[in-house]
Amino acid sequence: MKKEILIKFGEIFLKGENKEKFEKALFDDISQKISKFGIFNIKKMGSVFAVSGENIGKILDVIKKIFGIASFSVAYKTDKNIDEIKKAAEEEISEKIQTKNIKSFKIEARRSDKSFYLNSLEICTEVGAFISEKFNLKVDVHNPDLIIKIEIRNCAYVYSEKIEGMGGLPVGTSGLGTVMISGGIDSPVATFMMAKRGLKINAVHFSTPPYTSERSVDKVKRILKKISEYSNSIRFFNINFSDIQKEIKKKCAENLVTIISRRFMSNIAQKIAILEKSGCLITGESLGQVASQTVSAINCTAHDIFLPVFRPLIGFDKSEIIEIAKRIGTFEISIEDFEDCCSLFSPKRPKIKPILRFVENDELKIKNSDELIENAIKNCEICEIN
Ligand code: ATP
Ligand code: MG
Repeated sequence: MKKEILIKFGEIFLKGENKEKFEKALFDDISQKISKFGIFNIKKMGSVFAVSGENIGKILDVIKKIFGIASFSVAYKTDKNIDEIKKAAEEEISEKIQTKNIKSFKIEARRSDKSFYLNSLEICTEVGAFISEKFNLKVDVHNPDLIIKIEIRNCAYVYSEKIEGMGGLPVGTSGLGTVMISGGIDSPVATFMMAKRGLKINAVHFSTPPYTSERSVDKVKRILKKISEYSNSIRFFNINFSDIQKEIKKKCAENLVTIISRRFMSNIAQKIAILEKSGCLITGESLGQVASQTVSAINCTAHDIFLPVFRPLIGFDKSEIIEIAKRIGTFEISIEDFEDCCSLFSPKRPKIKPILRFVENDELKIKNSDELIENAIKNCEICEIN
């Protein structure tokens, strides 16, 4: 008997004009990701997709990582014929009974096709009586050990297990976001969270060769590759920040080095975002975590930025961030010990409450900042990560 994957994306986002855009983006994302594993067919039926093909078991792990999917099930597909449906229910129970102690069950039936000759209650009664007798099981509508679901669409589907999906919105349906990504723990988690809300991702990284090595850039690329398993391909911009960093170190007050570096980074990231037609910046900042993330410091960093800056981790504790990093698989890469430009150049006693006016004045000591910024952008390395 044939099996298909029934993918449910829920009704909540399917309102008005968004509906088609949402469905198309999800369809395209699923098609692209599963095409690496063989030939599959995706069919839309009302508010679900049905995926068929050889060996659908191979793509379950891929589907688990796709944003916009509320849940999915591996279902027997049969003709709309009650004897076939009974046979499928029998197969499903036989399979589950091998690994689970099942003493009671319940049938839940739904008809999208109202022309089917039995109504939902009649389907439940017929199939329920058949299963109860065949396996000597009790029907328990309140607390069953197993629920067999039957859906009558343009064919019939029978299944018992619902696998939780990623949730969120399909990639790209919220536009394009530009993340400032370090090799740390936080910004990869922030990237994942905003991608989950439907942003396609561009990533800007600042490195300071030769103080930071090629391997530290490679580490960031591997982090992004991990995130791309969920988000789809990510365009990566590696900015050589050395000239700017050296100039800041040489000219500016030591306790303002980090904050002024961050201002340059944000400025460059915004310029790249605009060139790429991206509507927002994303950072991994979390309030109060370090000196550069106090209210005053964040105000100084982002003061000249006019694009919205999303900081999805702003209210998170480090332990909560680490938990997500472990779940999505970036943690193990993030904790690899490589030099980071910020830690190399960071002052011993950074200003915890920097005052914008003083920061701006100090920054003016760098006379050729426009030229430095322009050069950094002109010489950046760009690649597609997927
Ligand atoms: P992370 O774990 O993301 O490195 P963090 O806790 O180390 O964050 P900071 O070093 O203060 O915090 O950095 C704050 C944010 O600034 C980062 O989350 C990231 O968005 C951005 N950022 C810091 N360093 C870089 C870098 N080298 N390249 C790009 N963005 C950076
Ligand atoms: Mg960091």
